[in-house]
Amino acid sequence: MAGAAPSVLFDNHGRPLEYLRLAVTDRCNLRCFYCMPEEGIKYMPKQELLTYEEMERLVGLLTGLGVRKVRLTGGEPFVRRDLVPFMARLTAIPGLDDLSLTTNGVLTAPYVPELARLGVKAVNLSLDTLDRARFASITRRDELPRVLDTFYALLASGIQVKINAVVMDGQNIEDLVPLAELTRELPVEVRFIEEMPFNGGSHAATLPWDHCRIRQHLEAHLGEFVPVATPAGATASEYSIAGHQGRIGIIAAYSRTFCGTCNRIRLTAEGGLKTCLYDQGVLDVRALLRGGSTDEEVAEALKSAFRYRAANGFEAEQRRPVHQLSFESMSTIGG
Ligand code: SAM
Ligand code: SF4
Repeated sequence: MAGAAPSVLFDNHGRPLEYLRLAVTDRCNLRCFYCMPEEGIKYMPKQELLTYEEMERLVGLLTGLGVRKVRLTGGEPFVRRDLVPFMARLTAIPGLDDLSLTTNGVLTAPYVPELARLGVKAVNLSLDTLDRARFASITRRDELPRVLDTFYALLASGIQVKINAVVMDGQNIEDLVPLAELTRELPVEVRFIEEMPFNGGSHAATLPWDHCRIRQHLEAHLGEFVPVATPAGATASEYSIAGHQGRIGIIAAYSRTFCGTCNRIRLTAEGGLKTCLYDQGVLDVRALLRGGSTDEEVAEALKSAFRYRAANGFEAEQRRPVHQLSFESMSTIGG
């Protein structure tokens, strides 16, 4: 599809789809409490994961349909071998303006110079606490020092850093202010995410800390939040604070306040298309790729899937044949 005229794909609600979140693996080297059980999830056999060649073909095809931004996620992207050479191949795809990734930072630091060379402008780093013992308890691995190495390497490289912190009642509430305080001296965005129920069955979902309570708590300690304009399709409400270099973001991931402008396409590691974070997967793209479909046939199937897209995450959840969201792990969905 290289060189194809950009023709933006719209869903049945008139929303443009310009952003692909691509899970390159379901495997992970951490066991975050909110994402999967202590024993981990049942990983897919390797042959069921999309190959890099299949992913590259899909990205080429989707840029032909107007996708401009790709975020690699997982699982942990860096546990998949040869990730950086794969990224280099993606950067050569015409029409792809923005390649970024979300990482837990455990293995990432040594790759930061290469990411900068490839032109990666922004990296989302998941970090729920600055306290080593609490980090070990939340992620069930004692890896905070290596994650901080990645944080400092990213800052030094000039790559824009967004910290993602999931807000968990009884786990990291004392960490919210110290994390937010990073924005005082550093030009980073610290984003607080409502906990969603996709935890692979570790615990039942409740939402004691919704976006309103998170904001109130932080404002009580840091002063008034001034809303900042965000690009269309943004999930985070962003705020500046007087005297702070960085910004605060709050993501109402479970309250789902941002669905009206959602521009995301999600592909799971085994090639399942999700038109919404809360749907159960609406198309087996891998079966099309491996069944010999042409680019045109795959593109048509993707377009058809978006003609039936739910209006919002609540409708997508209602349409699920199986309603219990906690059976799924975010490691499979990709966040
Ligand atoms: N392993 C990488 C990482 O942690 O950054 C990438 C994949 S992870 C599934 C992507 C994002 O989803 C992370 O920022 C993580 O904090 C977030 N996440 C995982 N489970 C979540 C949950 N149950 N609720 C809210 N966010 C969650
Ligand atoms: Fe792994 Fe990311 Fe899930 Fe944590 S949130 S277990 S780092 S995939």
